[in-house]
Formats: sequence, C-alpha cells, structure tokens
Amino acid sequence: MATAPAFAPVDAPVAPRTAHTVAVAAGDGIGPEIMDATLAVLREAGAGLDVVPVEVGERVYRRGVSSGIDREAWDAITGTGVLLKGPITTPQGKGYKSVNVTLRKTLGLFANVRPCVALHPHVRTKHPEMDVVIVRENEEDTYAGIEHRQTDEVVQCLKLVTRPGCERIVRYAFEHARANGRKKVSCFTKDNIMKLTDGLFHRVFDEVAAEYPDLRSEHLIVDIGTARLADDPGRFDVIVTPNLYGDILSDVAAQIAGSVGLAGSANVGNGCALFEAIHGSAPDIAGQGIANPSGLLMSAVMMLVHLGRTEQAARVHNAWLRTLEEGIHTADIHDPATSRRRVGTRDFAAAVIARLGRVPETRPAVAYAAAPRLDAVLAPPAAARRALKQFVGIDVFLHWDEANRDPRALGAALEPLSGPEFALKMITNRGVKVYPEGLPQTFCTDHWRCRFVLRDGQRATGAPLRLLTRLAEHGHDVVKTENLYRFDGEPGYSMGQGE
Ligand code: NAD
Repeated sequence: MATAPAFAPVDAPVAPRTAHTVAVAAGDGIGPEIMDATLAVLREAGAGLDVVPVEVGERVYRRGVSSGIDREAWDAITGTGVLLKGPITTPQGKGYKSVNVTLRKTLGLFANVRPCVALHPHVRTKHPEMDVVIVRENEEDTYAGIEHRQTDEVVQCLKLVTRPGCERIVRYAFEHARANGRKKVSCFTKDNIMKLTDGLFHRVFDEVAAEYPDLRSEHLIVDIGTARLADDPGRFDVIVTPNLYGDILSDVAAQIAGSVGLAGSANVGNGCALFEAIHGSAPDIAGQGIANPSGLLMSAVMMLVHLGRTEQAARVHNAWLRTLEEGIHTADIHDPATSRRRVGTRDFAAAVIARLGRVPETRPAVAYAAAPRLDAVLAPPAAARRALKQFVGIDVFLHWDEANRDPRALGAALEPLSGPEFALKMITNRGVKVYPEGLPQTFCTDHWRCRFVLRDGQRATGAPLRLLTRLAEHGHDVVKTENLYRFDGEPGYSMGQGE
C-alpha cells in the first residue's frame, strides 16, 4: 500500500514567471500511464506549463493516417515548438511511417542528446562512475535512406555527410558541454576507412574544438572508442558522433549505465524540440500500473532546461534522485539488496512529489545553469570560399557477368573504348583493385567500378557523355557514374584499395 496519497499537492511550488505552452502526446502502451505520472510531478514542481494534448501513434494510424500524425497534431507541435512524447508502438505492415523518424526529419531535429548516468548503488551497474552524454547527429549519414539495387548481387546505401550538418552537431556538443560544466568532448568516427565522409566530420570537429579552448577534445576511431566506453566509461564526458554510430553507441551507453528504463532524451532542432524516454511502449506491461515513469520524467527535466526553467528542472531531478536513493523503486529496478519499497507508477510519482524541495544525500545535488546556446550553434558560418573545382575523370559502375568474371577480360574490352579522352586507370570490385595486376584470389561480384581519368590536354566538356555512349554501343550495362573532381587541387574521391 502506498503511504503517500497519489499526486498530493506539495507546499511552496516554485512559481513560474509565465506559463509556457507545450504539446504533449501520451503515446501508446504504457505511454498514458507514465505521462499522467510525469505531468503530475511537473505540475506539483511548479513547472508552469500549459499543456496542449495531441494524439500521435496507434490511434491515428488506425484512422488511416500513414504517418501516425494528423494535421491538428502538426499544428500544435509546430505552434508550441516543444513536444513531450510518450513511446509509440511501431506499426506492423507496409505503408506506415515511423512517427519518430517522421518527426525528426520533418522538424529538422538535428541533435539527439542522451545523458547516460549510473545511479549506483541504487540501480545495479558494472560502472558506478559512469556519467556520459551522447550527442548523436540525427539527420544525415546512411539515415537519408537512399538505397538502390544495381545488379543481381549488389545493393548500395548512400552515406551523405555535409559540412553544415557536421558544424551544427559538433558545435552543439561543445555548447552542451560548456552549459553543463563538462570538461571534455570526444569525437568517434571511422575516418581511417571513410576518409571523405567521416574525415569531414573529424576535420570539422578539430576546427570547432579550437573555438572552445576551455574544453578538452579528443578523437577516437569508433570501434576502439566503443570498446573503451564499455570498459572504462569514466574516462568519457561528452561524446559526439555521426548518426549510425550514435544510434548504436547511445543504446550501448544506456545499457552499461544500467539505465535503459530510466534514461531520457532530447531531440533538438531550429525552432522545435522533442523530448522522450529511450524505452518503447512496453506492450507486455501496459495498463497494469507498474511501468517506471523515470525515463519520461528525465526527458521532461531536459525539456524544462530547454525552456529555461532550470530551477524547476533541478527541483524535479533532485526529488527523483532522492526517491531512488531512499529505495522507492518500481518493479523493473526493484532489487532486495537496495530497494525498500516496491511501488507502481502512480505511487512512484507521488513519492517524487513528496520529496520536491529535497536533494539526494549520497550524491551531489543537481543544478542546471542554462540550455546550450542554440544561436551559437545555428549561426550561419561565414560564407565559405568556393573551391576551384576541376573535372579529372569518371568512375563508371558496370553490371558485368561474363567471361567467368575475369577482370582481365573486362579490362581488355574497355581499354579500346576509353580513348581518345580518357585512359582506363583501374577496375575495382567491392573497392579492391582487380585490374591491372589483380590477384586471382580476390572474390568478384557482378558489380565493377571502372575508373577513367581524363588524358592530358583533353577537354572535359562532353567527354563523359561520349564515353558512356561508346560503352552503351558495345553492350555494357552502366548502372551508375560518379564524376571525379579535384577541389583546389585536392582529390575529392577515394583511391581504390591497392591503387
Ligand atoms: P520496450 O522498451 O518497449 O520494452 C522492452 C522491455 O523493457 C519490456 O520487457 C518492457 O516491459 C520493459 N520496459 C520498457 N519500458 C519500461 C518502463 N518504463 N518500465 C518498466 N519496464 C519497461 O521495447 P520493445 O518491446 O522492443 O518495443 C515495444 C514497442 O515500442 C515496439 O513497437 C517498438 O517499435 C516501440 N518503440 C518505440 C520507441 C519510441 O517511441 N521512442 C522506442 C523504442 C521502441
């Protein structure tokens, strides 16, 4: 039995100056239960929010809206610029779009921020010292979802990385670190392999790091970086990384912090921001009143900081820490060794409410200064000088499955077709040079990258088209081309492995 009445009013809430309007979507599964609990805590903490309820997810899908978000919800979300969202059950079946992906992309929410903090000894973890924030780029990389099938055997996914995209996310990470009194920003990429795409992210990181001399910075290759994070998370503070690595890393980090059910997240863009727990809709326990509202509550704390209500954010956060510290735990984190009372969703919220105004005793109280300065992040960079761009050749990708896939046969067929404008420099298969002078051991698929370089003195104009026409006339199946440029004399393309 609960000892405190559910959602009892608390004396002396911190009075807000003016109410801020936020859109609130309860979501599916356990969403409505944990949202009720979260809003009750916010209300009693004096968060001063005007809540506009919106409906997204299952019920909207059932009305035939394939995105799960109807016009009314869009208006409320864009009108308020802030959405607190419960988890959404991903719809089964073709034609439905994920609410989360649609919101992130449509609203330009470029930064995904996940604090991963160990709550030792109250929540079991192998890494009591862990306190890391993962800042994941949210819009670019392979997540543009541009994929093609090109041959019988080969499909591709385009990885797009832009300089403005890198600048925004890296600056956001440094601003977040500065605003939260953190000391170091680590960048994870795989630029030893992807020298152009991940190389750009790393280069921008180094440039931006120089603007923040008060913060330490380092770069790690993502594989060794992830291994170190799993082994010794205490050495990290803020980590910034491209979309795909960030997707994986943020789950790894939350898991090893022991806080998957407790962690919140923010998705921040220019003019809009979305706050949600990292867990899903937990259909297995929906409607039972036993779900842990902590992840959503911590997202709401991030929302209060975003809205400048730092005092109220700290008030909620400290009361929540105090509640966990006193061993008042929901079933998912209940442990006879550290828990004193097992409570349901409503009683947990009531326990947090009863502790508003108190701070934890076994760890430092939380204080928030300010949200990261978005103006600094989004300020358009000084107009970049346009580089001198020079066409130097073309990579032609062929679907070719003849002569037992012998690269020498393909080379011999292409050599006479390359001139007069081009010379056939090399052929690669899955990136490995197989002509000239390939090795018989290299496995070859039916997808060939043939690099033609412009001969000295030849004019670029019209040359690619004439080459492609010659190839087509001789029955070659061109599945795509990529022009090769030098920018200010620097190659804007990768070399073949073994070139
Ligand atoms: P899940 O996170 O919903 O559940 C995994 C396990 O954790 C379950 O046993 C569940 O009972 C438990 N759990 C999760 N949150 C809990 C909480 N607050 N308190 C106590 N226990 C909790 O993951 P899933 O089962 O893989 O996904 C369920 C649905 O949620 C799927 O449709 C999935 O696509 C969706 N999903 C949505 C979001 C989102 O909206 N942001 C995120 C992840 C998954």
